[in-house]
Amino acid sequence: MLGVARAFVKLTLLYLLTAAVVSAMAQQTPNAKQQSIRAELEKVRHDYKTLTQRKKEIDSQPNDARARRESEEIQEILPILAESEHYWASLLKKFEAGRYTTEGVSNICPAHNRKMRVIRVPIAYGLLAIRRSDPSQELRQQEFPFALDYWSGGCVVGPYTEAKIYICPDCQRAEKEWRKAHSK
Ligand SMILES: [Zn+2]
Repeated sequence: MLGVARAFVKLTLLYLLTAAVVSAMAQQTPNAKQQSIRAELEKVRHDYKTLTQRKKEIDSQPNDARARRESEEIQEILPILAESEHYWASLLKKFEAGRYTTEGVSNICPAHNRKMRVIRVPIAYGLLAIRRSDPSQELRQQEFPFALDYWSGGCVVGPYTEAKIYICPDCQRAEKEWRKAHSK
């Protein structure tokens, strides 16, 4: 029972600490913020690995009461670290979701049923000029959804210059052919 109470205190402390780190990050630029989140994640992962290793060492040898207590403490801390790892990992994922458009998306082109490559491309900011000769959004979606080799970041210029997207050679070919057929 005492162990549970101790773990609860540690968990509460961890949340307070996390909240402090997150609120400090609010002042950072997005790129710096991303780096901070990644650093926190790495720190937690490192701690988890180190403590797991330490516990294994203790448990593999004949040990005294003090060593046993340390092992029990580690046993309490590990799930808390796992919780923290999950928190930072999902925060990082959420943070990157806006420009890592491949996250959680199938790598099979729905129009051509083939595996696509992931490429890093420049982010295009600003209102993109639409010409009369351009294919409509609906047509693009249906016939060649993964033909574009840039990514539109919206009207407001953001801090990023690069995005990760899927590209399908068959889509690019299909768009080229469509343009050729509609260029008159
Ligand atoms: Zn395709």
